[in-house]
Parts: sequence; C-alpha cells; structure tokens
Amino acid sequence: MNDTSHDLDVAVIGAGPAGMAAALRLSKASLRVAVFDEQPRLGGQLLRQPPRSFVVKNWLPGRAYLEHKQRLKEAELTTDIDWRLGTSVWGVFPHQSGIGFDVHIVEGDQSRVVSARRLLVAAGCYEMPVPLPGWTLPGVMTAGAMQTLLKSQGVVTGQRIVLSGSHPLQLILADQLLDAGARVERILFAQPWHRVLQAIRSPRTLIESPQPLLEVARIVLRLKRAGVPVRFSQSIQRVMGETSVKAVEVRQAVQGVPSAEEPEVVDCDSVALCYGFLPSSELARQAGAAASPCQGGGWKVNHDGSGRTSKVALYVAGETGGVKGGDAAAIEGDLVATSILADLGIDAEDSPRPVELHRQMEQRRRFAALLENVSAMDDDFFLSLLDEQTVICRCEDVSWGEIQSAQGLHPMADTISAVKLLTRTGMGLCQGRQCEHSLRRLLRRSRSEAPTPESAYTVRAPVRPVSIEMLCNTDQMVSHDAFALERSIGSIPSLPNKDSNERQL
Ligand SMILES: Cc1cc2nc3c(=O)[nH]c(=O)nc-3n(C[C@H](O)[C@H](O)[C@H](O)COP(=O)(O)OP(=O)(O)OC[C@H]3O[C@@H](n4cnc5c(N)ncnc54)[C@H](O)[C@@H]3O)c2cc1C
Repeated sequence: MNDTSHDLDVAVIGAGPAGMAAALRLSKASLRVAVFDEQPRLGGQLLRQPPRSFVVKNWLPGRAYLEHKQRLKEAELTTDIDWRLGTSVWGVFPHQSGIGFDVHIVEGDQSRVVSARRLLVAAGCYEMPVPLPGWTLPGVMTAGAMQTLLKSQGVVTGQRIVLSGSHPLQLILADQLLDAGARVERILFAQPWHRVLQAIRSPRTLIESPQPLLEVARIVLRLKRAGVPVRFSQSIQRVMGETSVKAVEVRQAVQGVPSAEEPEVVDCDSVALCYGFLPSSELARQAGAAASPCQGGGWKVNHDGSGRTSKVALYVAGETGGVKGGDAAAIEGDLVATSILADLGIDAEDSPRPVELHRQMEQRRRFAALLENVSAMDDDFFLSLLDEQTVICRCEDVSWGEIQSAQGLHPMADTISAVKLLTRTGMGLCQGRQCEHSLRRLLRRSRSEAPTPESAYTVRAPVRPVSIEMLCNTDQMVSHDAFALERSIGSIPSLPNKDSNERQL
C-alpha cells in the first residue's frame, strides 16, 4: 500500500481490547497503522497494566482474562504497529483531500496532526457519575476508579469500604478488594433481588452465558464465606464526613419508593459508586458520526453492525458503539478490521469469517442487554438521591439548587443547552462528561420527553483539555499538510462533497 497522501492507512484511537484486536489484524495486512492511547501502557480499562517499574503479584488472575492477556502479549511484541501511548486525541477533522481525517493529538507538551485514510474510534466507556449528597468528599469514587488503583498500582483506597450501585461490577470489585486484604462492609444493590433473579433464570441466558453466571456465583459464595453482606433494594442516600468519608446513610426502597424508616448509618472510610457505564463517544460524535441514546444513559455511535458509522471512513468498535463488555469489544475489533480491509479493497485471506463473528456478537449483545436491564434505574430513583446542595457539575461547581433556580427565573430554559448557558454546567475541563448525563436525566423528567440528539451538549473540539501554548507549538507530521493554526483550534473545514462523506445506516 503506497498511498503517500496520508501519514497512515488507519489511525486507531484506543488500545483496549477493541483497538488492539483491530490494529493487530490490520497490521497483518501490511497497512500502516498507529494506535493512540492516553494511557502509558496497552490494555485499556479491562487490562489496566501497572507501570513498568511496578510488580503487581498475580495480576488479573482467572480464566476471564486469559484470552485478553494473550492478545495483550501479542500486541506488545508487535513492532509493525506504531503504538503511540501517553497520547491524547483532542479533535478529529476532515482531511484537506476530502478523504479520511486529520487526527489532532497531544504527546507530552507537543501538539501534532496526523492524517489517516481511515479512522477507528475504540475509545471505550466511562462510569456513570451519580450525584448524591457527599459524593464530592475525598474517599468517594466510582467502582472503576477504585478498581483501577487496585489493578494498576495494587493500592487499596480504604480500610472499610462500602459499595453501592446497581451494576454487577460491584461483585467483581469486592472480590478483588478481599483478595487485596480490604474489608468490605456492605455491597448495596439499589434494584430488588427479584429483578436480578428474573433475568438470570431465563433459559436462554443459562444456555448462552453460563461462564459469566458461574463466575458471579463463585464470587457470591466467596463473599458469603467472608461474611460480606450483600443487600438488595438498598442504596447510599448520603455520604457523611467533613473532610473525608466517615460513614454513609443507607436507605431501603420498596418497589422503587424510598422507605419512611430512618436510614441506617454504616461507618466506613471509602465508598465506591457503580450504576453502569456510558460510551466514550465524544470523539466520533465530534467528527460528525450519528449517535443514539443508550437505555442506561449516554450516547452510543450508530453503526452498521460491522463498525461502519454514518460518516464514510470513520469506524467504531467496542464500547464506543454501546457497552457490551470486554469479550464483545475484542470481537468487534476483529469485525471492524474486516470492514476496513473490505472497504480498502484488500482481500485478507486469514481474516475470521464475518458470519461467525456476527454470531458470537449476537450472544454478547443479548447478554449486554440483559445486564443493562438488570442495572438500569429510573429517573425518579436518581432524582430522589438529590438535595438542593448536591453538586451536579463538579468542574464549575454548580448545584442542583442553582440549576432549579435558573430554571425558575427562565421558565423556557428547559433544554440542556439553555441550562448550560445560564449556569455554566458542562463548560469545565471535562466538557460535560461528568454532568451531561445527570442533567439530561433530570431535565427529561420535567419535560417528559424522550432524549434526542438536541437534548445533548454539542460535542466540540477540544474533547480533551489542551493549552493554547501547546496548540501554538503544533508540529505538522507531514510536509504535504499545510497546517494552519485556526484549523487546529476548531473551525471545521467544509467538505468538498458532503454527500460523499455521509452514509445512510
Ligand atoms: C473504570 C472501568 C473499569 C472496568 N473494569 C472492568 C472489569 O473489571 N471487567 C470487565 O469485564 N469490564 C470492565 N470494564 C468495562 C471494560 O472497559 C470494557 O468491557 C472493555 O475494556 C472495553 O474495551 P474497549 O476496547 O472498548 O475500551 P477500553 O478498554 O476502555 O479502551 C479504550 C481506550 O481508549 C483510550 N482513549 C479514550 N479516549 C481517548 C482519547 N481521546 N485519546 C487517547 N486515548 C483515548 C482510553 O485511554 C482506553 O485505554 C471497565 C470499564 C471501566 C470504565
């Protein structure tokens, strides 16, 4: 492949299971592939690696990680791929030729532009932030953050830990915390037990997904033996403490309605919240790909089932296209590589058969839908966790009370963008990753409206914080790309022929 109009044949964003699987397959077809990831090592969230100078004993044991670890090893040994780690991608714009994209990256203190004929966004997911009184106290974190510290550094965040949420990741984390010698005081599931039972009792689930169910059963037995109480229809109502976590108030809810009983106070020094995941879809959306709301929250990028988005030359794989778990992400990585190769007119004989990959994906999708049904809590539940002082936008420090007051003063301010303009929610460093979801849910409740693309913040570059100084130092990777600063700062050049860049899904 001797196309010299672009630096790369394929730029992959994300070195998790999806990005790694795709990159490995594409590089075997002799394509020029680079993978950009802001983490210092390969693996993504599922295989979060310790720093090279650390040794974490018995890192990610168990069968569930076996295949992923093998792929990780293969990736680390592959030198045909340009692994650009510690690199953040902050924007994607159409390439001047009208084919492919310019990918804007930050490496260390250097900003650069790399052009690619095809772009794959496999940016994973992040945990759903859930505002409740006290959630900004040091010691309160998402379950994934707690797990990341444990996986990558062997650090346990507290001596007495309470987990609260609705997602089964709580069980995996509790098991890993026990292994690390921590004391887990409680695991609280907000949903009633019968909802879980109903889902896992379905014959189809038992036949199709015995492995994850057996794994959960093993963990539950272990937790029981260790005397860890696992409670359903209960959740943390308030985290107590002045400068750090001292205790939590635990509330019982019957049929979703909070019980009138006094909340129980449980002493602890660390709290993990875990209500599910939101796709990291902002880069693909910023590049113009169409997206749809997920049942549990957030936006997933629409694709044709093989990773092709509504934007020609832009592909997604893994959680960016909807949260389905690590195994599904790896299969989608293979699948999207097959699509990219086919679209480039390359016949890769050793590629796995798409029919087989689709069959495997169907099973994973059904299991993911089941998990989403089991974990999803309704808007009323999340609203019931708030009081006036609860901070919704952490970057700009905007409380629920301030949002309501702004709405009171401007009765027509019932869209997420209007609230943003009035209160500065979503204008901080995270660009709405923390507050968009909650705000949308809270406004949806008052408007009784289904979410539409208009009820999301508009995604704009930079999707990652980048200093003006860095932009001024932008290096052009290739001589053919007449880089202009204003292009880098965000004005999107119009495409020579818009229709040729859009695809109907
Ligand atoms: C905190 C957390 C913990 C999890 N723990 C588990 C677990 O224990 N077990 C389990 O089965 N599932 C877990 N999951 C779900 C898990 O992430 C996925 O199932 C799996 O990792 C998805 O693979 P992926 O390739 O789609 O994304 P990921 O593995 O998330 O990889 C995406 C990569 O993209 C990179 N990236 C994103 N945006 C940019 C950008 N703008 N610039 C540069 N790089 C970028 C990220 O750094 C990341 O490494 C967890 C998820 C999270 C968020």
